[in-house]
Amino acid sequence: MNYFRAHTVEEALATLADDPRRRVVCGGTDAFADLALVPARSEWVDISRIDALRRIERCDGWVRIGAASAWESVALTTWLPVALRDAAAAVGSLQIRVQGTVGGNLCHASPIADGVPPLLSLDAQVELASVRGVRRLPLHEFLLGARQVALKADELLVAILFPLPADADRTAFVKCTNRDGSALAVVSAAVRLRMSAVNTVEDAAVAVGGASAVALRMPALEASLLAQRPEALRDIIDGASLAALSPIEDCRATAAHRTHLARLAIMRALTHCIEEAAHGVSAG
Ligand SMILES: Cc1cc2nc3c(=O)[nH]c(=O)nc-3n(C[C@H](O)[C@H](O)[C@H](O)COP(=O)(O)OP(=O)(O)OC[C@H]3O[C@@H](n4cnc5c(N)ncnc54)[C@H](O)[C@@H]3O)c2cc1C
Repeated sequence: MNYFRAHTVEEALATLADDPRRRVVCGGTDAFADLALVPARSEWVDISRIDALRRIERCDGWVRIGAASAWESVALTTWLPVALRDAAAAVGSLQIRVQGTVGGNLCHASPIADGVPPLLSLDAQVELASVRGVRRLPLHEFLLGARQVALKADELLVAILFPLPADADRTAFVKCTNRDGSALAVVSAAVRLRMSAVNTVEDAAVAVGGASAVALRMPALEASLLAQRPEALRDIIDGASLAALSPIEDCRATAAHRTHLARLAIMRALTHCIEEAAHGVSAG
């Protein structure tokens, strides 16, 4: 196995362009945890020490998170939306959060990646760079399927961007696990919600993870929430068709249980947002 540590983005891109068999590694918590991802002759390009990829910034109404930002840094950045900070704080143990990164989470594209639902609900985009230039894609177009992303062999995910939520927006993330403590999600949901001055839903974004090959936004459900009062939401969620989801059956949960958890997680996330809006808790 060959290993090269890049110190600048340009150095990493040139190294990837030289030989498309080279693979990026950042925190290594996914890449080196799965032996299937470590073929004997892999050539690894380590991007974890590139300072430019570790910044978390806001500018001109946009948030920009460097792809090599560790989950612990996201969890500790208090001005980020609550849904994203709570998802960050829910990733593994402290050791995994210090090492594992936002970019690695998205590129590994697990159906239960904690980072994906909140970023989908925030309308996130990804910035991809190569020696050929830079392009941006909406996150939902980047995620092609379980463990499949729209990343070319010579490309690096450099940043994740999303519009800074409005002051009146509230966000929440709910992770359903099979046990307490650090555990992978069975199903998760993230919500971004804005209530109007007359206490009806003005804007809603809902994303569900763990109940399909990739986490999904739920546009029909989002539309059905608009103009509704808080007390109407439980019936809407209970009766909503979640046919867009395609949960698997495995030793962790049946498909029916995953659908049940999806409803539960969405309702809990909505309730968190409504309670925060009602009590005037600060934005995000
Ligand atoms: C014990 C344990 C517990 C875990 N618990 C959770 C959990 O609760 N929730 C959760 O969501 N995840 C969990 N994970 C998975 C993992 O920690 C996260 O997905 C983490 O965010 C991966 O980031 P990384 O930097 O370590 O990725 P790496 O392992 O370095 O890379 C993962 C993949 O992405 C590619 N890659 C990484 N960065 C880039 C980039 N910038 N551009 C292009 N390609 C890139 C690599 O080539 C590789 O294919 C856990 C893992 C372990 C080992």
